[in-house]
Amino acid sequence: MYKNNGVVLVLSGPSGAGKSSLINKIKDEIGDYYFSISTTTRGMRDGEINGVHYHFVSEEEFKKDIEDEHFLEYALVHGNYYGTSIKPVKEALSEGKLVIFDIDVQGNTAINNRLGDITTSVFITPPTLSELKNRLQKRDTDSQEVIDKRINMAKMEIQRISEYDFVVVNDDLDVAADVLKQIAKTARLKIPVEKINNFVNNWEDIN
Ligand code: ADP
Ligand code: 5GP
Repeated sequence: MYKNNGVVLVLSGPSGAGKSSLINKIKDEIGDYYFSISTTTRGMRDGEINGVHYHFVSEEEFKKDIEDEHFLEYALVHGNYYGTSIKPVKEALSEGKLVIFDIDVQGNTAINNRLGDITTSVFITPPTLSELKNRLQKRDTDSQEVIDKRINMAKMEIQRISEYDFVVVNDDLDVAADVLKQIAKTARLKIPVEKINNFVNNWEDIN
């Protein structure tokens, strides 16, 4: 239903791992892509723009979207709701784009259940927990309480790293960006199940 020629690249990893920085670095070198803008109930950080970084909504609006089945997947992360809207993803896939999600481990499970044959998943992490803490403190977008929450969350998320196709350790940004670029290009080579079945049927052309 959602699959034409498009494919999916899931990026997960603790907040502060460098997912946005890495995407920014490679975005002009990975061909035609659509970066899925999630909907969230969390408050806007300084510098964030509604409709660019997220669609920021109230909990009431979010729950209405759940009821109306607007989400491909959604999850409660650090006490806030986050969700991926179906419509733009469906459009981008039908246009043959690489659809990139920045979602958590729960979202990765949901996407793999629904679109597993066209999905490549990547877990991005800084080399150590203390480096993650440094980066969150330097980024200076969250209170100490929120940072502590994110650090605790990261300890749980890292336990699920084996559920991913690839792990990118974001130590040197340039090196990590290069690895991610290669993964993004390879992700495009995934073939949907229907296409493989068609190929096999046509391939058996001798009675
Ligand atoms: P995420 O999108 O995963 O939450 P960000 O891209 O916002 O993470 O990165 C978190 C902070 O760490 C930012 O201040 C960013 O500039 C910094 N950062 C990202 N990658 C590196 C790196 N390889 N070395 C040092 N700092 C980094
Ligand atoms: P942040 O608040 O730092 O922007 O994001 C917090 C966490 O929520 C990150 O792990 C991010 O990947 C995840 N996230 C963002 N959007 C979505 C979404 O639509 N679905 C899910 N499942 N997780 C999301």
